[in-house]
Amino acid sequence: MAVALSFAALFGLAIGSFLNVVIWRLPRGESLNHPGSHCPKCETPIKPYDNVPVLGWLWLRGRCRACRAPISPRYPLVEAATAALYVLVVAVAWDDTARIVLGILLVTLLVPVTLIDLDVQRIPDALTFPFGAAAVVAIAALDLDVLPEHLIAGAAAFAFFYGAWFAKPGGMGFGDVKLAGVLGLYLGRAVAPAIFIALIAGVLIGAGIIARVGVAAGRKTKVPFGPFLALGGLVGFLVGASLVDTYLDSF
Ligand SMILES: [Zn+2]
Repeated sequence: MAVALSFAALFGLAIGSFLNVVIWRLPRGESLNHPGSHCPKCETPIKPYDNVPVLGWLWLRGRCRACRAPISPRYPLVEAATAALYVLVVAVAWDDTARIVLGILLVTLLVPVTLIDLDVQRIPDALTFPFGAAAVVAIAALDLDVLPEHLIAGAAAFAFFYGAWFAKPGGMGFGDVKLAGVLGLYLGRAVAPAIFIALIAGVLIGAGIIARVGVAAGRKTKVPFGPFLALGGLVGFLVGASLVDTYLDSF
């Protein structure tokens, strides 16, 4: 198991490094593979030996080697977070291949969704659509029995958020509606606690903002909902199914 967890960590660092490229370039409509990584300030290409996840940023002390412009600590943090979440998925889903594959795909979707939504208040279809399709393909290939449950959960979560979006158009983006549907595909029945957690977290943060800036300004503050859905989706994946089973058993 130690070998598998180490492999998950290294794989997570490498994918996290690529997700940094996705987070920066996808909203800007830039190509993901060309040109190679370069300093956003002086455009000097980043040397392969400086492009090592987390470590590169550490030994450059967060500055470009050529122009000394600061490099955001977000880059190593995204890499470290992706690696940590991959390790968590493998540890929690241990001995269940289908669950590991779904968890890794889910983390790979939710990390860029969270940061892109924070940056530009948008959740790109270029992420939700292929990862939604990947969930269906992975379940069909690895755990066909649960496919109906996951399809129903996806449709139900989409319908629930579509209702919320329809009732109050400017309240939530349609990207959130599509992301909720995709979460259902990944989580099956665990999407119920995931949505519950997302809504509670959203209300708490909303109340916190209103407490800080007042009701009038707080109402005008745009808070992207994607990060809350991502949080709910992660917790839902890790413990959601056991929460649902405990709840149903209590009747
Ligand atoms: Zn530079």
